[in-house]
Amino acid sequence: MRATTEGATPSVKATHCTATTCPYCGVGCGVTLEWEDSESGPRIVSLAGDTRHPANYGRLCVKGSALAETLSPQGRLTHPQVRDAAGVLREVSWDTALDLIATRFSALRETHGAECIAAYLSGQLLTEDYYLANKLFKGFVGTPHLDTNSRLCMASAVVAHKRAFGADAVPCSYEDLESAELVVLVGSNLAWNHPVLFQRLKQARIDNPLLRIVVIDPRVTDSCEIADLYLGVRPGSDARLFNGLLAYMAERGRMDRLYLEAHTQGFDAALKAAKVDDCSLAAIARDCDVDVERLETFYYWFTTQLHVVTLFSQGINQSTSGTDKGNAIINCHLAGGKLGLPGAGPFSITGQPNAMGGREVGGLANQLAAHMDYDTPGARTLVSEFWQAPNLPEGPGHKAVEMFAALGRGEIQALWVMATNPAVSLPDSEAVRSALARCPLVIVSDCVSDSDTLAYADVILPASSWSEKDGTVTNSERRISRQRGLLVPPGEARHDWWQLAEVGKRMGYEQAFSYAGPHAIFREHARLSGYRNATPRAKAGKRMSDELPCVKRLFNISPLAELGCQGYDDLIPIQWPVYRNAQGDLVGTRRLFEDATFNTPNGRARLVPVTPQQPHQQLSDAAPLRLNTGRIRDQWHTMTRTARSARLMNHRAEPYIELHARDAQARKLEDGMLARLLSRDARGAIRGDYRARVHISSGQRAGEVFIPMHWNDHFASHGRAGALLAGLTDPFSGQPESKHGAVEVIALESEWQATLLLAPELLGSRSAFAAAIEALDGCYWARIPQDTLVRYQLAGGGQPDWQRWCDEQLGISADLWGEDTTHKELRAAGLVEGRLKWWLRVALSSSREFRQPNVAWLGECFATDQLAPRERRSLLAGRPSGQADAGAMICACHQVGEATIRNAIQAGDTTVESLGARLACGTRCGSCLPELKRIVEEERSHERTDTSLEMA
Ligand code: SF4
Repeated sequence: MRATTEGATPSVKATHCTATTCPYCGVGCGVTLEWEDSESGPRIVSLAGDTRHPANYGRLCVKGSALAETLSPQGRLTHPQVRDAAGVLREVSWDTALDLIATRFSALRETHGAECIAAYLSGQLLTEDYYLANKLFKGFVGTPHLDTNSRLCMASAVVAHKRAFGADAVPCSYEDLESAELVVLVGSNLAWNHPVLFQRLKQARIDNPLLRIVVIDPRVTDSCEIADLYLGVRPGSDARLFNGLLAYMAERGRMDRLYLEAHTQGFDAALKAAKVDDCSLAAIARDCDVDVERLETFYYWFTTQLHVVTLFSQGINQSTSGTDKGNAIINCHLAGGKLGLPGAGPFSITGQPNAMGGREVGGLANQLAAHMDYDTPGARTLVSEFWQAPNLPEGPGHKAVEMFAALGRGEIQALWVMATNPAVSLPDSEAVRSALARCPLVIVSDCVSDSDTLAYADVILPASSWSEKDGTVTNSERRISRQRGLLVPPGEARHDWWQLAEVGKRMGYEQAFSYAGPHAIFREHARLSGYRNATPRAKAGKRMSDELPCVKRLFNISPLAELGCQGYDDLIPIQWPVYRNAQGDLVGTRRLFEDATFNTPNGRARLVPVTPQQPHQQLSDAAPLRLNTGRIRDQWHTMTRTARSARLMNHRAEPYIELHARDAQARKLEDGMLARLLSRDARGAIRGDYRARVHISSGQRAGEVFIPMHWNDHFASHGRAGALLAGLTDPFSGQPESKHGAVEVIALESEWQATLLLAPELLGSRSAFAAAIEALDGCYWARIPQDTLVRYQLAGGGQPDWQRWCDEQLGISADLWGEDTTHKELRAAGLVEGRLKWWLRVALSSSREFRQPNVAWLGECFATDQLAPRERRSLLAGRPSGQADAGAMICACHQVGEATIRNAIQAGDTTVESLGARLACGTRCGSCLPELKRIVEEERSHERTDTSLEMA
């Protein structure tokens, strides 16, 4: 059954529910879609958390609950396009586009060899898409150069797992957070990046008052809301911290000797490496820049509790020594026997919805398929035989950063990018853009038209999107869930797996790429996972010839290969490895290594010697600040989906630079001012120039800066975090050092700032907007789409003739015009037949923050056919008379702003609960609760300060 979101309201025949999975983060929450079956096709009418899904039990964060707002067909790619000889993209038929790709691939392989062809994939793809891409490129095209944006996310954890356990296996389940005595969050702002998991942890703490939570992070984040102990470590000192913990455990006899002796190897070497540095608490505290008593408390808690979960994420992985940091954590768990038990284990949380699925099928350049690598003895023969693949490469290909370097050198002549935006997300993004521009054949499969990478495409393939496509994803706890398709893809958009299969067939591999649908692909993937798998469960009941190679691997879902179409459609979430119990039922595996048997040749886990390293991006006089990058609460990746929801745009409407007050003061920067972050290359030339609004934060360490990773050329003039970073990577995992840039911050000089609100049809095209900004001598802009208007924040030099600019660029002269000499402001508005078409406020003085209008109220004015005289009179003021501005959006669900919240607190609502009762903020998805709590605490501390001043 297919559904549509378009068309006139049909006569309703029936209402149905379909369970699917959220397409954003690695928590992998279940979502229930309610849809109507109507004459003109089914349509989604509501969306909620799936109460039966074991990842979230009905919860959704603000991003998940806004999913229905992102499903508009507007801004979708709808037709294949090919760039012609004149460089113009033209719509073509699918046959033309696919034939062109197959022909060019075959010709390039013939002329230059298969290694001149590459693919760059994404953790947003479904497992079936991923599987087929891997099979096509590695098995049949014959190139090893297939990698994924998951390289930027968790590649270091993958290698750390393999080194320690012999397999990329996450031991824990989410329920372990609920049965732990101690949960350590390290390099993870769970509250913003995995909000539903944070809510589960928060609830666990309420249910079990003995549960302790430690947060280890250079920044005080919203995750600290539930912390019993916070360690604000120096960036990059994690390996030193956990090496110190290993030494502390050994010195105090707090290891599990029996476990170490019976089930592990390498303890002595790991301890020796840890002890190369001074392991006194004072020395470790100094090196990590933390208070010695807090450090000892953490060590004491870790060593005295058995049920400890250490949850780690990009703060550990995105480093030139991320793999070692992961192993330093795992070493401590192995030394204490703290894994394979309820509430115990090192727990890597993935960023993307299907990063884990990509790892299962071999989406990384060093992998083959089904959890086998090139260097796994017998694996290449096994995969080649299973696929009947003629061209499987001999060894691994380029990892993401290396791949784009090879592209820049001209070694790669054709690149297929699927469901990702490397022109924004990779480090050294200017070099990445040059490499893309140089490549003779760039193919981009995507569903949206505002990906920066599309500018470099020679072939564009429109892809189906979430709620249109069918398949599976695997979340951070190894749980495979179905994403189910309902809606009809717009125009001629087609599924990714279909695009890949068609190219495979057109290259002459008809038999290998003839699939009836994702179900058939999934079955093949499941079968491969059990094929000649030497683990006892996989071998059970199967006859295997001794002459043919067997490879022992934990990843085994072969019982799912027996699922028919209906069984696949009905598949309920299940954790791998999957087996059948004595009754023949399908059973998943909640926790790994409960029998303390690992996937290494001798079955023992390995402790790995770790030598702590400093970040490789060097601080200098020209770049004295350590740059940290990361996600924010309401945005996802490069905003191509979340920016479609107006309410998600309002939490942090513009890119920003989070800075300690001391650093701001030293540079004469104030909260709300515009500033530039500059990074430099080895020759001292400017590598990146990031422009954003200063946000002074007491949670930021002095000497360090945080910026969000999401903004791109569609939403800001200079908002790409990747442009600031050098492409330095971990030697084992190839993961870039995105948490440790080196920058300087300076004020952005401008002579005016403006807020411009436009009806969406004005300046609709990118080129029209670029021309208008150029005419202004602008040095900064940010675009903030709203439901009824598009808001721009602008800054620039000179003294533009605004009246003329409005006439020429907006095409509608001002009906209302006023100059406020007190505030040195100019205000204007243009109307057509009583309807507001544009609204402008310009501050004519400096780059300091200036007063924002009430955008919510103005949005209503834009939606009103005939403005009443009273509203017209208030237009230039930017707010209805007597009404204050709501301030920055805190509660996206109920659209409650910071100023409204602070006013309510000052009026007596001094708890989060009473604020919820009055304003409804924080009462739906709960994502804003940590911020609400922080604002309450800030207001209370102001109140205490005021009172004590009065008393003094
Ligand atoms: S936590 Fe939020 S973004 Fe992540 S899967 Fe759940 S609903 Fe989606």
